[in-house]
Amino acid sequence: MGMHGGGWFAYVRGEDDKDKKQHVTWPLLKRVLGYARPYRGRIILLLGTILAVTGLSLLTPLIMRDLIDRTLPAGNAGRLNRLAIALVLIPIAGGAINIFQRKLNASIGEGVIYDLRLALYTHLQRLSLRFFTHTKTGELISRLNNDVIDAQRAISSTIVDIVTNLIQVTAILIVMFSLEWRLTLLGVMVLPLFIVAARRLGTKLRHIARQAMDYNAQMNAIMNETLNIGGVLLVRLFGRTATEVERFDVRAAQVRDIGITRAVTGSQFFVIIGLVGAIGTALVYWVGGHLVLNGAFTIGTIVAFASYLTQLYGALQNLTNAPVAFATSMVSFERVFEVIDLPLDIAEKPGARVLRDVRGALTFEDVTFEYRIDEEHLLRSVERHGQVDMVQAVLSGGEKTDGKTGEPVAISQAREIALEHVSFHIEPGQLVALVGPSGAGKTTLTYLIPRLYDPTEGRILLDGHDLRDVTLSSLAAQVGMVTQETHLFHDTIRTNLLYARLDATQAEIEAACRAANIHDFIAGLPDGYYTVVGERGYRLSGGEKQRLAIARVILKDPRILVLDEATSHLDSQSEALIQDALKTVMAGRTSIVIAHRLSTILAADLILVIDRGRIVEQGRHDDLIAQGGLYAGLYETQFSRERNGAPLFPAEAGEP
Ligand code: ADP
Repeated sequence: MGMHGGGWFAYVRGEDDKDKKQHVTWPLLKRVLGYARPYRGRIILLLGTILAVTGLSLLTPLIMRDLIDRTLPAGNAGRLNRLAIALVLIPIAGGAINIFQRKLNASIGEGVIYDLRLALYTHLQRLSLRFFTHTKTGELISRLNNDVIDAQRAISSTIVDIVTNLIQVTAILIVMFSLEWRLTLLGVMVLPLFIVAARRLGTKLRHIARQAMDYNAQMNAIMNETLNIGGVLLVRLFGRTATEVERFDVRAAQVRDIGITRAVTGSQFFVIIGLVGAIGTALVYWVGGHLVLNGAFTIGTIVAFASYLTQLYGALQNLTNAPVAFATSMVSFERVFEVIDLPLDIAEKPGARVLRDVRGALTFEDVTFEYRIDEEHLLRSVERHGQVDMVQAVLSGGEKTDGKTGEPVAISQAREIALEHVSFHIEPGQLVALVGPSGAGKTTLTYLIPRLYDPTEGRILLDGHDLRDVTLSSLAAQVGMVTQETHLFHDTIRTNLLYARLDATQAEIEAACRAANIHDFIAGLPDGYYTVVGERGYRLSGGEKQRLAIARVILKDPRILVLDEATSHLDSQSEALIQDALKTVMAGRTSIVIAHRLSTILAADLILVIDRGRIVEQGRHDDLIAQGGLYAGLYETQFSRERNGAPLFPAEAGEP
């Protein structure tokens, strides 16, 4: 990790930001506008409020002019009163409209983001396992969060700002020209100066802001990396507390310094902008004053003018930086779309059939499978090159590992092709045992059955139907899987069990738990079935979790059972409970078991001996022994271990 891991966030927020400017294309804009379409009614209303607010802001200077030029000289007290009231009413009305405008604005912005988020989450839920094994999900989520928030800013502030300011500038210029064109030209003369100053400082300021973001991200990355269990463990075990504090110190100091620079530059920006504005105003008063002296026009006109000029400069100041801000926010959209556009490689065919009354005959026809993944299926910036388990990295020794070089090699025989020309057939209700060395492809084979992946070549048939021709949900309902690692949601045991079947009754739940030999244990917990388990809940032992997983599968009642037998050494009592539970759950179902126990292998109707992605031998125990091949060899060397209580074909250390 170290430098490498610390860099990603900086990369995502920093490097990418650099090319943010050029990227606004018409298709992108059209797509963003597509998201705004459902809100067009509100958008029109919003435009109306913008016009109203602008119109109101144009009134005040005119009233001033009237006051100075007509009302006061004429000594018209009644008119003075009316104008004074108008001067109070205008901001009140403006304020009211403004509140309404903000509400509209927020509801459009939040609405679009809500739609976008939902589309994104739905899409992510449908992406295949391939995507997730190649992507750091934490990074993905944090990236998406930031991008979605940026996109929201684009919708709710940038766009509205630009539109408001454009309308304002146009309206003000029109009013000014119609009022006194010579003065208008004078006021507009300082504009180039103004625009140059605003651009220069704006660029500098943006640059600093981006730098600040990078520094912040780097600081956050250190926190993320070192303040989780894996990181803390690593730091402690290698006695690196001081180093880590130092590393953090450096980053935090950068954040502090850039914060100061930012504040100083920001104030320069406003001072200079203010100065240019003041010069323009002074020019108008000076030249205008002379014109008044010559009787070319009235004092009121100059006052109104100066006031318009201030408004004009303000609007222009906002506009100078708007294009860049806009482009930046558009890129956030683009990055969200990039995820939404990832192709679904496990998709349901149109018109896929619903599997009903499954008997459970399973056939692999010349199945070949590669883990390779096309670039287009990945997100470049959050891709990873293999999962680095922090704790494992610690245990495998050495310095803090770099994401690439120090990655512990978990699997012994990494190959391009995980399965090659695998063919076999299982009758309904039969038990198949998969045996073979670690890395042979057993897990991969089991993943193809619930369609976590599709074969690269060949096909898999369930009761004669190609898995790709049936609906995903009906396939999911027919295949139950018990893996070595049981994932439980942070919720009650009951809710976790109900995940298998939402409408199960308490009696059914208990029956399943009895069959899985876990009911008595659950009943003995302080809150029984309502005990909260999972990440921060009650910690279950490995054996308990596995029995819970078995209960969950019993509740689901699938025709096909895929099982990865535990390789870890459980105590013999726990072991016996699990074996007994498994016997129950396998009865009457087609079962495919990655077998590590002699009893399972002896009971199997078919043993598939897998090596380097191929089925090298298949048959029943006695036949295979008689063949005297790989199986016989494995059996010879491993059998004595089973009698000593160890599993027959243990996984090698480090196997997932
Ligand atoms: P087994 O379960 O027999 O130990 P696996 O099915 O886990 O073997 O692995 C078979 C092969 O596929 C190994 O060479 C392994 O490196 C590779 N492999 C497993 N999972 C992935 C993955 N997500 N991406 C790429 N290669 C993988």
